[in-house]
Amino acid sequence: MAGLFPNLGLPLELGGLTVRNRILSTGHMTGMISAGVPTPAFAHYHGARARGGCGLIITESAAVHPTSNAYNIQLTDPASVEALALAAAEVKRHGCHIFGQLGHGGRETHSGTDGSIPAAYGPSSTAAERFHVMPRAMSRDMIAEIVEAFGQAALTYEAAGYDGMEIMASHGLLLAQFFNPDVNVRDDDYGGTRENRLRFAREVIARIRDKVGRRMVLGIRISGDELNANGLETPEVLEICRALDADGALDFFDICGGSMTGLGGSVHVVPPMNFDPGYLSPISARIRAEVSAAVFVAGRINDVRAAEAILARGDADMCGMTRAQICDPDMAGKAMRGEVDDIRACIGCNQACIGHMQAGFPISCIQHPETGRETGLGVRPAVQDRLTVLIAGGGPAGMKAAAVAAERGHRVALCEAGAELGGQVKWARQLPGRDEFGGIVTSLSAEMRRAGVEVSLNTWVDRTLVEDLSPDVVVIATGAQPYTPDHLLFEGAHVVHAAQVLEGANVGKRVVIADWRCDWVGLGLAERLARDGCSVRLAVNGTMPGQSIQQYTRDRWIGELHKLGVAVTPLARLVGADNDTAYFEHTTSGEAILFEDVDTLVTATGSRTDLTLEQDLEGWRGELYMAGDAVSPRTCEEAVLEGLKIGSVIGGGNLAPIDRPLRIR
Ligand code: SF4
Repeated sequence: MAGLFPNLGLPLELGGLTVRNRILSTGHMTGMISAGVPTPAFAHYHGARARGGCGLIITESAAVHPTSNAYNIQLTDPASVEALALAAAEVKRHGCHIFGQLGHGGRETHSGTDGSIPAAYGPSSTAAERFHVMPRAMSRDMIAEIVEAFGQAALTYEAAGYDGMEIMASHGLLLAQFFNPDVNVRDDDYGGTRENRLRFAREVIARIRDKVGRRMVLGIRISGDELNANGLETPEVLEICRALDADGALDFFDICGGSMTGLGGSVHVVPPMNFDPGYLSPISARIRAEVSAAVFVAGRINDVRAAEAILARGDADMCGMTRAQICDPDMAGKAMRGEVDDIRACIGCNQACIGHMQAGFPISCIQHPETGRETGLGVRPAVQDRLTVLIAGGGPAGMKAAAVAAERGHRVALCEAGAELGGQVKWARQLPGRDEFGGIVTSLSAEMRRAGVEVSLNTWVDRTLVEDLSPDVVVIATGAQPYTPDHLLFEGAHVVHAAQVLEGANVGKRVVIADWRCDWVGLGLAERLARDGCSVRLAVNGTMPGQSIQQYTRDRWIGELHKLGVAVTPLARLVGADNDTAYFEHTTSGEAILFEDVDTLVTATGSRTDLTLEQDLEGWRGELYMAGDAVSPRTCEEAVLEGLKIGSVIGGGNLAPIDRPLRIR
């Protein structure tokens, strides 16, 4: 296909298949697996991206053997075959192809299905840092059993109607452990020389081909660089790819980055917004120059223009755009139709996609909470009566409520008291490396514009305005105000709230940040002030800075603070401050913690709901809803989700109890 994206729209010939375009949804954990079996939501979730125009979907890792990580799809369970078949049918009916992943975590394992710690196996008894695992070295019999299990698992995918599969040799998983001479220290013919370290992978590939022949497409996923201490590095990965390619059994190499093995490497498994879009493509380009099979690449490719450039340069044959399609399941179709401005761009926050999965919940998106809720809130209920709706507040909650209500056919006006839309997003975007957060406002503004919402800035909503306009429905989305607890004792101290710093308040050279929130605010302010030349001490109320945010985002940030010399004190509760000392107490021991030589104390002590409009509208007779921080202060995710719920229910909508919003009257 020509048009704006001549490379992205070009079909790809792959092992006898013709994939309709070069847009890939890479294998990723959905949190839609129950006791090892995909739930019906799994099929609906992948079906939505297939319907949206994606070329190829690779579904998440399936464990080929009971000794692998318990969170994966368990292919040995017959119920999994049925569930995968449902997903395959759903994806293929939209013209998309579907592959599966075959995996074994080896020593990368942390918990079983019953909360106990499973035994871990690896090529050798070498410790893994992230999950603090010491594996048992695999016997030759066990190696043979797992090789056979890979072959059987391939047959399972074939039985489920899948088009192909990839073997997981990425992210420090079992095959990568065999490749790595720092992990594989065996002295038999599976260790030592590169030939020996490749033996296990070659046996796996050969057994799969024995079982399914060339009836299915087969590739391998490998980290182009594990970017971790003692991890595989690009020169060695190049040699591995060259050798496996020369065997001629593989149709593609799927290049990613990072490793589960350490916190530094795991950041690259789902890289947060601080990494440049497509930052791994120079590595895939080197591999593509060495192999004859097709090469895929992933790594925060969140923009179709960036993907087109990667393909145009010849860095890869296909681009993994996974979060991009979690955020906008219709991204591929919009790109092919040239509707680029309508694409909702993923901002790399990691909050509701990988963040949900790691917390044990189905993945979603803070910008598009319809994801993961395809058959519930993902459906726009038909309007029974066209109503007039007044939204008070132009933050994410109000914007989403307005867009959805208007999309369903209501007449919607949104009034924002300030001069710009976005609520607290305007603060988030001012922190180092967080400017992309503003993309939420861009996307929601576009949604409102397309839906025909009338927006008024600098317009305060009060009872008089409500009575003048006489809407059928009012949505209170007026957010929250910065808060510092009244009981704190400040005598002669220079104290500023985090929000004031973000709005330009002056701070001295020696700063203590009291981080009660343990989220992005404390981390971001510490980085910004340290970069501005301040000496920064960060006192967090939890066990670590960023305790409440997604771990890859947090871990990278903690590393930045370390480089900048920010001193972190955990478990510290603010008590007060005077002219040069900030007083804290330890949250478990109760012992005093003193910070001396302090010029400025910054309180990252959160915000409190603004009740003004709610109280003003007491007794008003119309339909009244509340959303976001106006209910209670939380994050952007809850704000957008509650906006969606309200927009979906105004004027009638048959939502499940869990999806119903807070209605006051
Ligand atoms: Fe992207 Fe954030 Fe949505 Fe995840 S939650 S898909 S990182 S915008």
